[in-house]
Amino acid sequence: FTVPAVDNEPMRPYGPGSAERAGLEAAIKQMQADLPFEVPCIINGKPVKTGKLASQPLPHDHARNLCTYHEADSATVTQAIDGALSAKAEWESLPWNDRAAIFLKAADLVSGKYRYKLMAATMLGQGKNAWQAEIDAAAELADFLRFGVKFVQDLYAQQPTKNSPGAWNRVEYRALEGFVLAISPFNFTAIGGNLNATPALVGNVTIWKPSPMAVYANYITHQIFLEAGVPPSVIQFVPGPPEIVAQQALKHPSFAALHFTGSTFVFKQLWKDIASNLEVYKSYPKIVGETGGKNFHLIHESADIRNAVLQSIRGAFEYQGQKCSALSRLYVSSSVWSGGFKEMLLSEISKIKVGAPDDWSNYMGPVIGRPAFEKIMSYIEKAKQAGGDILIGGTGDDSKGYFVQPTVIETKDPRSVTMVEEIFGPVITIYVFDDAQYDETLKLIDSTSQYALTGAIFATQRSALLKATNALRNAAGNVYYNEKCTGAVVGQQPFGGGRASGTNDKAGSISIFYRFVSPRSIKENF
Ligand code: GLU
Repeated sequence: FTVPAVDNEPMRPYGPGSAERAGLEAAIKQMQADLPFEVPCIINGKPVKTGKLASQPLPHDHARNLCTYHEADSATVTQAIDGALSAKAEWESLPWNDRAAIFLKAADLVSGKYRYKLMAATMLGQGKNAWQAEIDAAAELADFLRFGVKFVQDLYAQQPTKNSPGAWNRVEYRALEGFVLAISPFNFTAIGGNLNATPALVGNVTIWKPSPMAVYANYITHQIFLEAGVPPSVIQFVPGPPEIVAQQALKHPSFAALHFTGSTFVFKQLWKDIASNLEVYKSYPKIVGETGGKNFHLIHESADIRNAVLQSIRGAFEYQGQKCSALSRLYVSSSVWSGGFKEMLLSEISKIKVGAPDDWSNYMGPVIGRPAFEKIMSYIEKAKQAGGDILIGGTGDDSKGYFVQPTVIETKDPRSVTMVEEIFGPVITIYVFDDAQYDETLKLIDSTSQYALTGAIFATQRSALLKATNALRNAAGNVYYNEKCTGAVVGQQPFGGGRASGTNDKAGSISIFYRFVSPRSIKENF
């Protein structure tokens, strides 16, 4: 079986008057008319309504809910795990081309039939504008599924290179023994799908706990998986509180792997919980996680100023700075800063409009919820108290939705709180360094990079790029030259970082699939 050639899903044009814009607007209108939706747990392909209701509000209009959903209780989690385990043997023994065909079909449903519905749910529920929803819920989700098939095909092709006379060696890439717990974040609908599809593609079964703030878009994704032919018990949709879903799954003897994207704090906690249950498990669980970031741009004196400014704005403020990869600290060479960077940065930011995600003129939408809003505002306060200078923004309004203005802080202290701690919002802190201090600044960046997810270096002198790459080899898993630090593309820039940012298993590449298999070597004599 040869996988058809895969390619990245093309972006559609949404210009005024276009059929694409009309299609998306119709989907949004329909969703607004029909909300709030009622979302059950989906166990063994069937809705389970526990009656324990929680809600996913609209971040731009928090008096209204996109959906209410039934939180799993302990009996539901048991049912989900038992069902998944009993579906496992058949799923993993399905011929590879059948599993591949199912996920290729799911990709086509994402990019075609359900595109606008998924985008609308991501816009209304997670506060993305149309373009941000498109790169996530339409393009990246389809890419994860299509390229996933290709990566697994390539993985299965990895075979021993030598046979001895009279004997034949081969490796089988078996699924893990047990189930995978997938815990997904609010900020990418695509990641929700991928945390399940990646293990399932190689024959695993999963228990999916979606983020409470992305339940509806994730639910649609799960419906797509079922429609595409994923057998009913292979991916169980189990929204609910972590102390029920995660804790119960982590205590189960057949817990085989955690596939996580979310905060560093929660990941560390889960890791400790896994450690404390080690005696319970049949095998050592695999732990795969992508967590926080404190991502940087470094602007060398030779940088193209206009490019550095525009890329920095996109890296910092697209999706309100709520990508794990978002820019949040800048090191700007003093001659660049005073030579036009500061002026252009502030003037461009002053044009940014913040508001509802379905208004096409808004570059930024709301942040995801009240805790996020309060955390971001408290960091702005902390920065002020520490002597930081608010150059623009610094204000928020949570009366109707959770809106924070794009904020720029200048600091003289490169170790101040907003230069080192993750904020996860539209706030950047800038430290201006002397042109002559480039080497020292590289050391400073490395020594203050407790996280190591993404970074970008802006310079037209190649030697400056190479020097930085060398000095910062452990400070970012994804590095960009003369381009913003967000927006990794599946199949093009494998994504993930080290230090407190995760296990660096590289989503969007073959590497991550190795984590969800337990290979068996077979030597056959004849
Ligand atoms: N892959 C995304 C990017 O490169 C970020 C994913 C995340 O936020 O976890 O921007």
